[in-house]
Amino acid sequence: MANNQHIHCTVNSCHYWNQGNKCQANEILVTSDRIGESRGDSYDATMATSMSETPVGSCMETCCKTYVSKGSDSVKLDGVYRQ
Ligand code: SF4
Repeated sequence: MANNQHIHCTVNSCHYWNQGNKCQANEILVTSDRIGESRGDSYDATMATSMSETPVGSCMETCCKTYVSKGSDSVKLDGVYRQ
């Protein structure tokens, strides 16, 4: 994300979360829950331009695929970095 834009997020157990409920990931992937549940940690924002589109019916069917628990080793798998 450019520095003058912000993704606001309250999920403070995420590695990319920062004070003020701001996401500090350089990019994120929001996708359908179905993809979130079925794809591994390496399936993330860096691959977004080649992904199929995933329509849903409501916000409750979407998720942030870039979420990684603080302290998790899988933080290295997604190609996303903290700004
Ligand atoms: S990566 Fe997703 S879950 Fe984590 S702080 Fe950013 S928007 Fe929130």
